[in-house]
Amino acid sequence: MNYIERVLEKLRTENPNEPEYHQAATEILNGLKPVCERHPEYEKAALLERFVEPERTVEFRVPWVDDRGAVHVNKGYRVQFNSAIGPYKGGLRFHPSVNRSVIKFLGLEQILKNSLTGLPIGGGKGGSNFDPKGKSDNEIMRFCQSFMTELYRHIGQDTDVPAGDIGVGGREIGFLFGQYKRLTGEHVGVLTGRGLSYGGSLARKEATGYGLVYMTEEAMRVRGDGFKGKTVLVSGAGNVAIYACEKAQSLGAKVVAMYDSNGYIYDKAGIKLDIVKQIKEVERGRISVYAERVKGAEYHEGCRGIWNIPCDVALPCATQNEIEAESAKTLVKNGVKYVGEGANMPTTLEGISVFQNAGAVFLPAKAANAGGVATSALEMAQSSGRLFWSFEEVDAKLKSIMINIFNNMSSAAKEYGVEKDLVAGANIAGFKKVAEAMTAQGIV
Ligand code: NDP
Repeated sequence: MNYIERVLEKLRTENPNEPEYHQAATEILNGLKPVCERHPEYEKAALLERFVEPERTVEFRVPWVDDRGAVHVNKGYRVQFNSAIGPYKGGLRFHPSVNRSVIKFLGLEQILKNSLTGLPIGGGKGGSNFDPKGKSDNEIMRFCQSFMTELYRHIGQDTDVPAGDIGVGGREIGFLFGQYKRLTGEHVGVLTGRGLSYGGSLARKEATGYGLVYMTEEAMRVRGDGFKGKTVLVSGAGNVAIYACEKAQSLGAKVVAMYDSNGYIYDKAGIKLDIVKQIKEVERGRISVYAERVKGAEYHEGCRGIWNIPCDVALPCATQNEIEAESAKTLVKNGVKYVGEGANMPTTLEGISVFQNAGAVFLPAKAANAGGVATSALEMAQSSGRLFWSFEEVDAKLKSIMINIFNNMSSAAKEYGVEKDLVAGANIAGFKKVAEAMTAQGIV
């Protein structure tokens, strides 16, 4: 057994029943083979063992009372994974599927993603198995206040700066921030994704989706190609999906389908995004309503069917493991040329192999969706400098960060002899900086 296999074996034994964490660790460590071969000192310093073990995991009770007076108890988590290059940074996810394994996979990915941005941020992630669907604003507020009543003692603007993720948008960040301020008396940049009236950054809302499209556009540009006239599938109908759709459309692409967790809409004339925004952002309704409002549009129950629609570009932007091997094969058969991961780990390991073996350009999440956290770091910079940059300034920085990440992951892949494998390239480029910082700081 080589070093990487031994580390993975230990990780699986010590962390049973954590399949998402195993999946992410396997993808990352397998991509690091050429680096470990070149740096035998990493093994002596147990660098990989330390890298895959969170510095700290906090699990806590979140009790709250619903509008009828019934008491509920949810689980809360914050995994402070790695602070070698900066304060822990990573979102909070509120979704019934959240558990320790999901938060650890997200946290591990986040370390390398944050490193790739070139900005001084370490990796962390958190959340709760609370389901915000169908809850009133008051219930959401009470839950957020209870969640922060425990979390506040573990975070800080220079130690750990959470943000949003699935189920945590502007409304939740507002309630969380309000409670943090009430408990500490400090109005500081301890959360990102804040509203513009209390320290947020312009273009943060758009950043992950726009960033994904900027990177995909760059991958197309180096091949003499572009978005104009391309048929695009975007899964999800949340923050990342909506702004990926918006930017792709503005570059001349036709986005024909999107989904939420119940089913997908297919509009061969091209999705009318203002209607999707109205349904999902304003009414917090179901995407099925789109087909009732738009003539010629279809709604289909269930999500997987979306990948049967022929397209040039697939942008999975909902959740983990949306595209398994079968869906990947169908996409390839129908001629997909570019796959950009907006969500975290939306493609299974087998699905990734299908795309790579078919020669499709596959842009892995930790690079392709890094625009959100990069802009969060820009929000932190504005907070500490008491500055407020224009939309154009932030957007221009975002675009240049995404192009840099693309170039860095492409050159890392080339340097380590895995030229076409951008998954390995992203892992290597992100890991090199973390490994250097961990080595410099001794055995900690
Ligand atoms: P949102 O909660 O805004 O949207 C998520 C969307 O995906 C919703 O439309 C939701 O459906 C759908 N969805 C969630 N779970 C499932 C599921 N199991 N099956 C099918 N559809 C599902 O989240 P975000 O847009 O913020 O996040 C989406 C992804 O992007 C996540 O993987 C997140 O980790 C990743 N990401 C987000 C960043 C950000 O800045 N927000 C940054 C980097 C990555 P419904 O409407 O029914 O709830």
